[in-house]
Amino acid sequence: MAYVVTEACIACRYGECVAVCPQDAFHGGPNFVVINPATCANCSLCEMVCPVKAIVAATDLAPDQKAYRELNAELAAVWPVVRELQPLPDADANAFETTKRHRLIVP
Ligand code: SF4
Ligand code: SF4
Repeated sequence: MAYVVTEACIACRYGECVAVCPQDAFHGGPNFVVINPATCANCSLCEMVCPVKAIVAATDLAPDQKAYRELNAELAAVWPVVRELQPLPDADANAFETTKRHRLIVP
């Protein structure tokens, strides 16, 4: 089992999760990060530090977030590993917006 980054991270991407991951399991795109299920060690450190509760154990995903399990795996295969990130400029304004899947940028 791995952890999964869900919709709350889109356009927010504070980056605390990336800094604590001992496995380099995070991969980053323009306005979202994902967890590589092949490298995640299931330690839960990232879940504890995410300020918007965007990171959820794969087995605990809400029904409307289940698609993010596959999306994390798909994007981790094409996005580079990230080891540090700065928050996006409008992160605070976007942090608690609940419906923002349409804002995900996939180059
Ligand atoms: S800490 Fe949360 S909001 Fe920030 S990049 Fe990680 S998952 Fe996204
Ligand atoms: S659960 Fe641990 S190993 Fe997996 S992504 Fe989070 S910090 Fe990294």
